[in-house]
Amino acid sequence: MSKPAAMIDSFRHKGLRKQLVEIIRRKGITDPNVLNAIEKLPRHFFFDSSFLEYAYEDKPFPIGAGQTISQPYTVAFQSMLLDVSKGTRVLEIGTGSGYQASILALMGAKVFTIERHKILYTKTSQLLPALGYHSIKTFFGDGYKGLPAYAPFDRILITAAAPAIPEKLIEQLNPDGIMVIPLGPDDVQTMTVVVKNKDGSYQKSEHGAFRFVPMLKDKEK
Ligand code: SAH
Repeated sequence: MSKPAAMIDSFRHKGLRKQLVEIIRRKGITDPNVLNAIEKLPRHFFFDSSFLEYAYEDKPFPIGAGQTISQPYTVAFQSMLLDVSKGTRVLEIGTGSGYQASILALMGAKVFTIERHKILYTKTSQLLPALGYHSIKTFFGDGYKGLPAYAPFDRILITAAAPAIPEKLIEQLNPDGIMVIPLGPDDVQTMTVVVKNKDGSYQKSEHGAFRFVPMLKDKEK
């Protein structure tokens, strides 16, 4: 991007990533496909250069426009629940920094991602091809509407706190498809896995408490 020094992946960065993977593994993430992607992807590429030292802490971090890059453990947990393999078509709501989208691409998924903030959309839609992730399709829009022109998807990942399951997005999910969504009010949400049945109905399972920025309606200019 604008600051090339931030785009160097040094031995030190690689070492810090190995430590981060260990921390995430100890917290219970065992999926090798997920751990491998976290170890490979330089998270500091998604930070402004003045904050590089925070990139390998297991913490969320501000990315501008009042939004955050999720904690690495949360990215790993959602990626594990999503259960993707090579060629899986994934719709992500909340592109943000593009880190989660890149992790899914490294896991073999074909990623479509929507962001409602123009500034973040513009920045990330330039960053991803610069990093070599040409297959990730970025869209500026309201994730509540999904991407009907590209549906159906095998998986839908929501990376913002949703007050309820968006029915329009369930419609864009394949039968046997999975949606991973943090459900609940602004202060705390329950990570929820929604599996769509062949008849269009769905069932839910709950996977612990998390905190996300809210999923807001309509585009921000
Ligand atoms: N997945 C991101 C984390 C993003 S934080 C990453 O890896 O960095 C949540 C993001 O969801 C924010 O960028 C926010 O602007 C976006 N968002 C919130 N509501 C949205 C909506 N209705 N449609 C699209 N994006 C939305």
